[in-house]
Amino acid sequence: MIALSSDTETRPSAAMRAAIAAAPVGDEQRGEDPSVNLLLERVAELLGMEAALFLPTGTMCNLISVKVHTQAGDVIVAERDAHVLRAESGGAGLVSGVITEALVASDHASAFADVDAGPASARIPGTFTAEDLRAALDRLTMMPAPYAPPASLLCVEQTHNFGGGSIWPLERLAAVSDLARTRGLRVHMDGARLLNAVVASGVPAAQWCSHVDSAWIDFTKGLGAPLGAVLAGSRAFIAQALRYKFAFGGAMRQAGIAAAGCLYALDHHVERLAEDHANASRLATGIAALSGVRLVYGMPQTNIVFFEPDRSGLSAAELARRCGERGLRMSAIGGRLRAVAHLDVSRAQVDEALAIIADALR
Ligand SMILES: *Cc1c(COP(=O)(O)O)cnc(C)c1O
Repeated sequence: MIALSSDTETRPSAAMRAAIAAAPVGDEQRGEDPSVNLLLERVAELLGMEAALFLPTGTMCNLISVKVHTQAGDVIVAERDAHVLRAESGGAGLVSGVITEALVASDHASAFADVDAGPASARIPGTFTAEDLRAALDRLTMMPAPYAPPASLLCVEQTHNFGGGSIWPLERLAAVSDLARTRGLRVHMDGARLLNAVVASGVPAAQWCSHVDSAWIDFTKGLGAPLGAVLAGSRAFIAQALRYKFAFGGAMRQAGIAAAGCLYALDHHVERLAEDHANASRLATGIAALSGVRLVYGMPQTNIVFFEPDRSGLSAAELARRCGERGLRMSAIGGRLRAVAHLDVSRAQVDEALAIIADALR
C-alpha cells in the first residue's frame, strides 16, 4: 500500500528504533527523565522560547494552550478550517468552555468543496490578513462590554493542514499578531508542521515563534516519530501548562522511550523534509496533467496536495475508494482528496501513485 493519506503514516525506522532502545529514562512526572529533559531544552532553543513541555499528542498541546490562555466564556478566534476547530472533537469547548469565532479569510480558500475557492493566484489558504482579523474583532465587539463576549486568544496554524500545507508569510503573521496583541488577545501557534515551513522558507523557527505566545511542534507528522509533541512558551505559561498536563492525564513515566524517537527525528529527519516537498510538487504536477481531476490550491508549498475530481458523477470518496483498491491510500476530506508526502513514500512511489490515479479515473 502506498500510504499518502497522512504524514502520520510513517513508521519508526530501524535507526530510530535503535535510538529508542538505547534511551536513558527516568520518571518524567518528577522531571527526572534525561531524554525528555534534553528534548525540552532542544525544542525550547529551536523555537526561541523560555521553556517547554513534553506531551503525548499535538491535540493535547492545543487543548492545554487554550485552557491556559482563556477563561470559560471567552472567544477564541481561528481560521475557519483550523485543526483546533475542525478536527479536535470539540475539545476546546469541552475543556475550556470557550466560544469559537471562525474567521473567514477575504480570499475564501477552504478545504471544503462547498466553498468557492476563488482565484488560485490570490490565495494563501488557511491564512488571513490583519484586515480580516480586524473585521472579525470588530464584529465581536459590535456590542459594547459587558454584552460582547471577550476574545482572549487567536490561534494560527503553521503550516495549515486543510489549507494544503500553506505557509504564513512572516510579515502577514507579524501584522496579524501585532493587531491581536493590541486588541488584548494572546496568540497561539499550532505548529504541527512548523518545521515544514522552516525547511521550505528558510525562515528559522524562532523567528516565526517570536510573534506568538505559545507554539508546539508535532513529532508524529513528517518527522516520523511514533509519538510525542512539544509545547513551548514563557516560563509562566509552561508552569500553568504543567498543571493541566497532570490534570488531563498527560504526565507520563519513562517517557524517554518516546522522547528518544523525537531527538532522533530532530537530528535526522528535519532537513530531509525538503524531499517530501519535492515529492508533493511532483505529485501535484502529475495530477495537474491528468484529465478528470484538478488541484484545489494550485502547487503545494510544502508536503500536502489537495485535489478533486472535476468530472460529474465521480465523488472524491469514490475516487479514493478506487485508488484504495489499487494500492494507494489517500484521505477524502470535505469532498476533496488529500495526499501527503512523507519519509515512507519514495519518489518512485509518487510516480506509481500517479499511474494508479490515472487508472482509477479510466
Ligand atoms: C495532526 C495535527 C494536530 C493534532 O496532532 P496529534 O499529534 O495528531 O494530536 C493538530 N493540528 C494540526 C494542524 C495537525 O495537522
